[in-house]
Amino acid sequence: MTNQNQQADDSTSSSATSGERPILEVNDLRTYFFTDDGVLPSVDGVTFKIEKGKTLGLVGESGSGKSVTSLSILGLIPQPPGKIVGGEVLFEGRDLTKFSEDELRGIRGNDISMIFQEPMTSLNPVYTIGNQIIEAIQLHQPLNFKEARELAIYMLDRVGIPAPSQRIDEFPHQMSGGMKQRAMIAMSLVCKPKLLIADEPTTALDVTIQAQILDLLTELQEEMGMSILFITHDLGVVAEICDDVAVMYAGRIAEYGNAEEIYNNPSHPYTIGLFSSLP
Ligand code: ADP
Ligand code: MG
Repeated sequence: MTNQNQQADDSTSSSATSGERPILEVNDLRTYFFTDDGVLPSVDGVTFKIEKGKTLGLVGESGSGKSVTSLSILGLIPQPPGKIVGGEVLFEGRDLTKFSEDELRGIRGNDISMIFQEPMTSLNPVYTIGNQIIEAIQLHQPLNFKEARELAIYMLDRVGIPAPSQRIDEFPHQMSGGMKQRAMIAMSLVCKPKLLIADEPTTALDVTIQAQILDLLTELQEEMGMSILFITHDLGVVAEICDDVAVMYAGRIAEYGNAEEIYNNPSHPYTIGLFSSLP
């Protein structure tokens, strides 16, 4: 059986038709960890791209290198023990691996936003949700406090937080896990990022809320023309929202291409196993 999905430069990919430069091109990225036990090639020659306004699903079992890939894109690998040892991360054609920490800070939370799996790692416990979102807004948009607060309330409402004009003044510990995750998503979207990297953002949420958040993301994506790198191990999510999919296995891309084609005709043993477990 021939399957052209495996090639990262596959021209049959559905989203490769726009002719515009992709928002993100990851080329032969290699991120290694240098530990006492030896060298761990966590990401070992990963290549993919995301076209403007499209969603790429990055799937793979735990430990396959999905999070390290996303952290590498944003220059957030703890150094040492980690290090990007090769490859490039082209965001709108500029190689982020060559950026200084200051330049990266200008990109993060502005052009590129990230939602992590665990919201507590990104919310500050000593500030109210509102103050954190307002700060994020004012960092990137010329709005006064009142305007920024109104926008924050609007976004909290959009992510399905009830009574947002009251809950905006709560501290993270006053909110449930699901509410915190929604607040995080609101915070990551207020800057209208060109690219959203979502690392298993709905894994900790119950199914109904998960569906709501996915609907919201696709809605906002259409409104803003945002591109999304969606990391998940939930193949239902891939089928629902992703244009393309890259399957990671042991630090490499095992399979890559149009989501529907791979869904219907997986070729790598890992992907076949993964998909055959679906109902
Ligand atoms: P995934 O997100 O797919 O579950 P990760 O990208 O988190 O996997 O991890 C890939 C590999 O890199 C794993 O073997 C993990 O143990 C290793 N790794 C991740 N972060 C570190 C770190 N800070 N130090 C050492 N090894 C790490
Ligand atoms: Mg991970």
